[in-house]
Amino acid sequence: MAEESNESNENQLKRPYDDDHPPAPPPTAPTRQTPPSTFDKAMPVDVLFDKMVRVVVGVEPNKRTFEIHKGLITFSSGYFNTALNGRYATEASPQTLTLKIEDPKLFELYQSWLYTRYFRAPAPGPKGPCVQVTFEELVRLWDFGQRYHVPLLQNLASDLVIQKVGIEWMGPGSSAVRYAYAVTPVDSKLRKLLIDLLGMTGGAVGTLTAADKTEQTSAYPREVLVDLLSVVWGPQARRLDQNGVILMDWCQYHVHEAGVRCNKGPMKASTKASVKKEG
Ligand SMILES: [Zn+2]
Repeated sequence: MAEESNESNENQLKRPYDDDHPPAPPPTAPTRQTPPSTFDKAMPVDVLFDKMVRVVVGVEPNKRTFEIHKGLITFSSGYFNTALNGRYATEASPQTLTLKIEDPKLFELYQSWLYTRYFRAPAPGPKGPCVQVTFEELVRLWDFGQRYHVPLLQNLASDLVIQKVGIEWMGPGSSAVRYAYAVTPVDSKLRKLLIDLLGMTGGAVGTLTAADKTEQTSAYPREVLVDLLSVVWGPQARRLDQNGVILMDWCQYHVHEAGVRCNKGPMKASTKASVKKEG
């Protein structure tokens, strides 16, 4: 008995280091309550790509059914983790969720991001993936991340807004800004990002169209204009060129857990030459 016991103990000690028995994932990983806001906490592949779940999105005639790996959709989303792993999760196989109010086209972008970390296949050339999505789609994806508790999605959407402005040198446009203000709270990181970009690049990126300037159009609600003045008149007022936009501190617009920062910023000292102070 003593010998058997020793062999068993030896196997237990060796197992985590054997090729056939790789180290087990941290016990808290599959049941994490707070979804990650950075990619440094990767889940094991066998957990991410385990069972399939169905998500029925929209209503007829545009209703679509998506099949997604459960580990993938639950890892990054507090909502989907609770819905599919929580105490009230259905026992059906496959598990099925219905999201009637969502747009299947937007959900398709979300599904694409889950598998590829992009919203659409990257375009060839120096402009990269950001040109494949519109400002309004990015705002809607950020809002989706807000409602389904997917900080990784929100952070990528913010990053691509910055890239689009910096690379394409175009403003977000009044419709995207109006949408953002309609669906976000006052202290939203998305509002801050859009207002900072408008205030710091302003006329350089053609923010105001002819229609925006007419009295008949209220392209920007009063709330937007007041926030814009706080940027233009504030102590941090400055003018950014394209390089300055790309080299901004991206992380200040991210949604992170308290005390967490990612490696997107802050701005390097060598880039300060591209930023001119107002006045
Ligand atoms: Zn960050």
